[in-house]
Amino acid sequence: MPSSPDATTPAPSTTPAAPPSAGAQADPTAPDVVVNKQRPLLPLDFEPAELRPLDASAGPDIRLRPDAAEAVEKMVDAAGQEGVGLVIVSGYRSYAEQQSTYAHWVAQYGGATGADAVSARPGHSEHQTGLAFDIAQDDGACTLVSCFAQTRAARWTALHAPEYGIILRYPLGFDRITGFFAEPWHFRYVGTDVALAMKDAGQETLEEYFGLPAAPSY
Ligand SMILES: [Zn+2]
Repeated sequence: MPSSPDATTPAPSTTPAAPPSAGAQADPTAPDVVVNKQRPLLPLDFEPAELRPLDASAGPDIRLRPDAAEAVEKMVDAAGQEGVGLVIVSGYRSYAEQQSTYAHWVAQYGGATGADAVSARPGHSEHQTGLAFDIAQDDGACTLVSCFAQTRAARWTALHAPEYGIILRYPLGFDRITGFFAEPWHFRYVGTDVALAMKDAGQETLEEYFGLPAAPSY
């Protein structure tokens, strides 16, 4: 599996005093917050004020921020009406959950180098914002693997997500900017203003849209 921001590393020893993420798009409570390998959440163990489970498109243990949840439910409904079955397989992940996920990958790969390619360090995962989620197709085809890009679910979602304020966060060919190889299943709620403006401008990454530095590594 290509690099995925879904892993967890021990907290980086960077000092919270001079955070690289200070400034624009750094408010973790804003839907347009940008989190990447150069921009940790502040505080590192940030938790959204409110989270709720999704409707029938996901299990009860999958939660998102209410604004993101509402957008996802509308998108899943619309896809269903066109015969495309979307299932949400991952949503909010806490700092502690990301710590254990990342630790798993560190153990698996014998170090941070391999782990960083497949998983975000704790405090650097979009899943910790409550705004990011992973989509699968209802028949389970290519769930969380790169061939998902060829499924109807991925094609429909990549095309229609911006109408719901949702973007494909790790598009193919932009890993030097986002820090992660293509993840055709990982989507992010940013609000319709940003999502539609990005589409109009032909911008594929939040970093480019907001004029932020590329974040290929920590
Ligand atoms: Zn994800």
